Amino acid sequence: MLIDSYGRTVDYLRVSVTERCNFRCQYCMPEKPFSWVPKENLLSFEELFEFIKVAIDEGVKKIRITGGEPLLREDLDKFIKMIYDYKNDIDLAMTTNAFLLKGAAQKLKDAGLKRINVSIDSLKPEMAEKIAKKDVLKQVLEGVEEALAVGLKVKVNMVPMKGLNDNEILDVLEYCKERGMVVRFIEYMENVHAEVDIKGMQSPELLSVIGSRYAYEDEGFDGHSPSHYYKLEDGYEFGIIEPHKDDFCKKCNRIRLTAEGNLIPCLYFDEAMSIHDAIKRGDIKEAALVLKEVIRTKPEKNRWNDDDHEVSTRAFYETGG
Ligand code: SAM
Ligand code: SF4
Repeated sequence: MLIDSYGRTVDYLRVSVTERCNFRCQYCMPEKPFSWVPKENLLSFEELFEFIKVAIDEGVKKIRITGGEPLLREDLDKFIKMIYDYKNDIDLAMTTNAFLLKGAAQKLKDAGLKRINVSIDSLKPEMAEKIAKKDVLKQVLEGVEEALAVGLKVKVNMVPMKGLNDNEILDVLEYCKERGMVVRFIEYMENVHAEVDIKGMQSPELLSVIGSRYAYEDEGFDGHSPSHYYKLEDGYEFGIIEPHKDDFCKKCNRIRLTAEGNLIPCLYFDEAMSIHDAIKRGDIKEAALVLKEVIRTKPEKNRWNDDDHEVSTRAFYETGG
């Protein structure tokens, strides 16, 4: 079992398989200038899998594939199957912008994927285009329908931003409610890669918009999920991810692996250790030692509320959000 210095059990690994993306969401990625990590610096799926086996053997029970846009990486279904075949009771999930999901959902499910989280920031084609800097909506929604049709569990992530999609909070909630999908509103997390003038919305503002149409009850937190859940009178549940709150880190159970092989103990904390060379050398023992050291040094909490670190320099498209 992996237990950090604050007594938290770490059993959730998020694996970013690529930092590249076919969108340029305003809150995540600059449009230009851009230099990607050269492909030869990335770990292959076989190499990532070597590390994943170590992590599973040490007690990881949940793996989320993310990016960048994970569906840009070829043979993703084969990677998922490698993990599934190694331990078929792993909670295997993916976060995607869904642009390439249509035509791929069945293959991913057959490979062992259980759940997906899809980012939908707007249901208006022009606004979706403005946020992602690309005409995306139709293809995204078709991908979502296909995922539901093949039986994948789908949750939706929305980042509400003032003056952009703040008038669509209820629309997105209702779109999800009609389809039995949980929606989670994510408070915008400040970072140097985003457009400078973005103004996010925090949970009291979001709740006041939702409360203007629906009565809701506070359900608290569900296990280790960072999402604070609320229930409408008809039983529908939605969540708000509130990284700016003080207690956000108390139950954190996760670490992150980038496509280059950097192991990151905390999303909003610049420290990381690399397993790249150890894995390239086939030195599994060394990779396991790095994993344990990252767990040992996992910080007590993120730096959102730390005055000296107001804006994160780490890119969410690199760490997988
Ligand atoms: N490309 C995939 C997607 O968009 O779902 C996976 C990677 S993306 C980095 C993962 C999640 O991080 C998305 O739900 C996205 O909305 C969220 N995200 C990215 N930048 C963010 C920011 N600055 N603040 C809050 N959430 C952010
Ligand atoms: Fe790409 Fe996801 Fe970042 Fe949007 S949020 S730019 S889809 S990685």
